Amino acid sequence: MSKQPKVAIVTGASRGIGRAIALKLAEESFTVIVNYAGSAEKARAVVTDIEAAGGRAQAVQADISDAAAVERLFATTLERFGRLDVVVHNAGIMEMGHITTDSLDVLDRALSVNLRGSWLVMAKAAEVLEKGGRIIVLSSSVLAKSFPGYGAYIASKAGVEGLVRVLANELRGREITVNAIAPGPVGTELFLTGKSEEQVAHIAGMAPLERLGSPDDIAGAVAFLAGPDGGWVNAQILRANGGFAR
Ligand code: NDP
Repeated sequence: MSKQPKVAIVTGASRGIGRAIALKLAEESFTVIVNYAGSAEKARAVVTDIEAAGGRAQAVQADISDAAAVERLFATTLERFGRLDVVVHNAGIMEMGHITTDSLDVLDRALSVNLRGSWLVMAKAAEVLEKGGRIIVLSSSVLAKSFPGYGAYIASKAGVEGLVRVLANELRGREITVNAIAPGPVGTELFLTGKSEEQVAHIAGMAPLERLGSPDDIAGAVAFLAGPDGGWVNAQILRANGGFAR
């Protein structure tokens, strides 16, 4: 009798790092839920790519900062596939703004999508994951750099790292691991938007490996944590960054 394929939700999988994670997990035989906020066509293209390679996937729209939408994302997954083994919470935004009285809206948006969104997705994952499940959340290695302008983003991701460690403790006895991957700079829309070629080259040169990360670099680290070899890693922040920061 063949085993039922494992099922993974990847939030923010329409483009960038999330897209690479979805493709990689499908390659590793997971059925993948490709979540997105607004990019319906791109999400459908990810599903098409997975199916063309012989895998199984479904696109599900849900704004992860909206509790009812997150509820629907998980309910749709369970109704359609009957189980859930891995949740990769990758969806996130990055908006620059110095710590000034008139940039409070930048903080509010970062906290709403990155921190509240993580709380909602992690809470729902904790509720429904199978024994042996994995929760993997995206943080950022820029926490260790404290660059000017990154205050809201860093505050939100520092919160996420806190949630990872607390939830790992709250899930004692459930055989579910909770970890974060904290990439260094990766050449996606989120990182490249608003930067000159010189700025990008300068930042790329900061890591001893002297390049930007690729979405596939990060997808490989996620697949490790989601797969059989990652089972003993728990409550950790894995800084996948070419040596950009510790
Ligand atoms: P992109 O901007 O390329 O992609 C962001 C993804 O998140 C898209 O799929 C987008 O969906 C989705 N998304 C955004 N807001 C929401 C929301 N409210 N609800 C659901 N989905 C949403 O970002 P990256 O791929 O670069 O980043 C992915 C993660 O990695 C983020 O958490 C980011 O903070 C983290 N990271 C990135 C680094 C980098 O240098 N790129 C470095 C360190 C961490 P849609 O297309 O529908 O808008």
